[in-house]
Amino acid sequence: MKSYQEMSKEELLQEKESLKAAYKEYQKMDLSLNMARGKPAVEQLDMVMDILDVLDSKSEMVAENGIDVRNYGEMDGIPEAKKLMADMMGTKAENVLVFGNASLTIMYDTVSRSMTHGVCGSTPWCHLDKIKFLCPVPGYDRHFAITEHFGIEMINIPMTEDGPDMDMVEQYVNNDPSVKGIWCVPKYSNPQGYVYSDETVKRFAALKPAAEDFRIFWDNSYVVHHLYEDRQAELLDIISECEKAGNPDIVYEFASTSKVTFAGAGIAAMASSKKNLDFIRKSMTIQTIGYDKVNQYRHIKYFKDLDGIKAKMKQHADILRPKFEMVDEILTKELEGLGIGTWTKPLGGYFITFETLEGCATSVVKKAKEAGVVLTGAGAPFPYGTDPRDFVIRIAPSYPTLEELRQAAEVFVLCVKLASVEKLLE
Ligand code: PLP
Repeated sequence: MKSYQEMSKEELLQEKESLKAAYKEYQKMDLSLNMARGKPAVEQLDMVMDILDVLDSKSEMVAENGIDVRNYGEMDGIPEAKKLMADMMGTKAENVLVFGNASLTIMYDTVSRSMTHGVCGSTPWCHLDKIKFLCPVPGYDRHFAITEHFGIEMINIPMTEDGPDMDMVEQYVNNDPSVKGIWCVPKYSNPQGYVYSDETVKRFAALKPAAEDFRIFWDNSYVVHHLYEDRQAELLDIISECEKAGNPDIVYEFASTSKVTFAGAGIAAMASSKKNLDFIRKSMTIQTIGYDKVNQYRHIKYFKDLDGIKAKMKQHADILRPKFEMVDEILTKELEGLGIGTWTKPLGGYFITFETLEGCATSVVKKAKEAGVVLTGAGAPFPYGTDPRDFVIRIAPSYPTLEELRQAAEVFVLCVKLASVEKLLE
């Protein structure tokens, strides 16, 4: 098969005509499909409905330390929930605080607290002239939205298959005291599905920040989200690596059960050093008299332990895997060898990243929309919504049914071809 780059102008014009005809056919079908939503499918949510059966009005609502989970108190979270979340993150229960229903809120609050009250006694960030965050790209749009919201300057750091470009990270963090943080999704990253290598984790742990209040925001939201039983990525435990490197305080780790039980109705936790947690506890006691321990208890009754979570994640994977594989098959069948796009083949997480020819992503997203397929906006996975090379598209295969996904992927490849031909003819 000839790549598009090898085609003559005549051949490209011919290809364009036939692609346009096929595109018009899809437009006539009045499709309404969506590959933008990184959320669990209805089938996955149905599969965890039995979590609602583990408690009823006759349940004994007492945690293992004798605490009544219906009442105020136990700010850290009930001990068994701390242990469960610690096991999930691969750290110790003493490093963990269990919060409310979502980890993004903890991240927001962590940035917000640093702005108003500083970090463990440092000057509040709002009193400093300039605050910067490093943002591995492409990344999670809601991370970038938080830092943008607080007026924090964001610096793009290119991602590799092993994690962020660590030479750049070290250069910034170790020399610029206005760099106060970095957003990381270290396992099955959003949106590429990459996993940070051991070397990357160790280089993070060994950073020598110019700012004493620099922190790594280690969002381990896909820590147990494997697609394949026999090919599960391993990620080093950042907390113990930082301890070993003599840097126990430079990281906050976050995780939740949002895509394990119910999205936005799970339990969320943070892991960090004692010094960091003690500082956070001080403002926590102002913010709340206690998080939802009934939900923590419900999750404990449901899962019992980490093995319970792993078993449920296997069931999620059985639903998600065919979707990821179908998208990959269609992309391979339709685009391989054409030289107009590459894509990731993640072993876990919720997303595939597609890279078009430079300058084509916006056009692909627009064309797909006009044929009834909503994709995540081009630029969304970048700070300020701007993809400098306009070439990254995040594909979210989880939510549609298999049949919807097949049609959506077929429209997508057609739009990629059409946008590429138009680009090459410019
Ligand atoms: N972090 C990442 C990287 C995500 O992709 C998502 C959801 O898509 C979240 C956090 C949201 O997690 P939570 O529901 O715990 O706020």
